[in-house]
Amino acid sequence: MLSYAPLVQPDHPIAFIDLAAQQRAIRPQIDAAIQKVLDHGTYIMGPEVAELETVLSRFCGAKYTLSCSNGTDALGLGLMAYGVKAGDAVFVPSFTFAATAEVVLWMGATPVFVDCLEDTYTIDPVGLDQAILKARALGLNPVGIIPVDLFGQPAEYEAIQAIADEHHLWVMADAAQSFGASFKGRHVGTMGDLTTTSFFPAKPLGCYGDGGAVFTDREDLIDLLRSLRVHGQGSDKYDNIHVGINGRLDTLQAAILLEKIKIFPKELAERQKVADFYTAALKDIVVTPCLREGATSSWAQYTIQLPEGVCRTSLIKKLQGVGIPAVIYYQKPLHLQTAYRACPTGTGGPLPVCERLAHTVLSLPMSGYVLPDALAYITEHVYRFVKEA
Ligand SMILES: *Cc1c(COP(=O)(O)O)cnc(C)c1O
Repeated sequence: MLSYAPLVQPDHPIAFIDLAAQQRAIRPQIDAAIQKVLDHGTYIMGPEVAELETVLSRFCGAKYTLSCSNGTDALGLGLMAYGVKAGDAVFVPSFTFAATAEVVLWMGATPVFVDCLEDTYTIDPVGLDQAILKARALGLNPVGIIPVDLFGQPAEYEAIQAIADEHHLWVMADAAQSFGASFKGRHVGTMGDLTTTSFFPAKPLGCYGDGGAVFTDREDLIDLLRSLRVHGQGSDKYDNIHVGINGRLDTLQAAILLEKIKIFPKELAERQKVADFYTAALKDIVVTPCLREGATSSWAQYTIQLPEGVCRTSLIKKLQGVGIPAVIYYQKPLHLQTAYRACPTGTGGPLPVCERLAHTVLSLPMSGYVLPDALAYITEHVYRFVKEA
């Protein structure tokens, strides 16, 4: 049994993601890094961009890193490199952020939505198998899978890769939420043929604006990706050899990320401690997150499932009333959203697991900076309010 601290509100406001505390910890280094860029003035593709790509490759073990404008463009660049086109089917989980499916439609291809696993929230390999058959039945040409490492835990890449191999599909990992995580000692960045991530400020490793990256070991793809990032340029700058995008990462953001990645390992360890505290305090009263054997998470979100009969809306209101922010990721699976309703699901009908989860999930404050008094305060309130409900 846990012993609870008295219900005194911490003397600081509780942030859902405490970016201010992180900034206080490294403000002088950030200021100096920005200053350096202002001094040399190479705002586009300055030396910090190449340096960051080297540091990121070393961090995750990928052979190549291509930094880019954001996590959505990272996915888009990947699909362009694969040559995805109209008539192609790309399999995506429905329980994710819109970007995962959006980029498939950019290419004129069709996203086919797959349900997720109840305990880990990542794409269901059995549902994936069924979706491939469904896509063929619809006259589509299955080409690839975009698993999402939802809330920070790597998807089931072993099972997914086996299915991909059987059907000759590529696997592009959407690791926007999971940079820094691992599975059986392998780091995120090395699990798909391509891996994409995001440095949006609220992600586990975030910059102060938009940013993203693509990781790969494939030399043929990295050259193409480099070209696509700058309008498809060839060796002669004025003879473009592909149709690409303007997808570069700003030098300023690279400089900021170079400082932030220095404290990232320590932050990941702190996030794990926060998650452990939550799980110990709440596991008897709600469904707490489940890590697969051998997996680590970067804890982009700490997401619980409320028991049946607990009204989530009133719980959120009660928590808000005592200064605790809680957020729903995700209210509506993509296959039920207006823009995606016309796209097929792998079942040809509902996706029951994610449709149910959309009504029961709730994410609690998470960062490497949730202080012990805040943790006690949050868990005690969640426990009480759920018990009372
Ligand atoms: C944040 C996110 C993205 C998009 O990243 P941006 O940098 O905001 O474009 C893509 N996929 C998932 C799962 C995300 O959480």
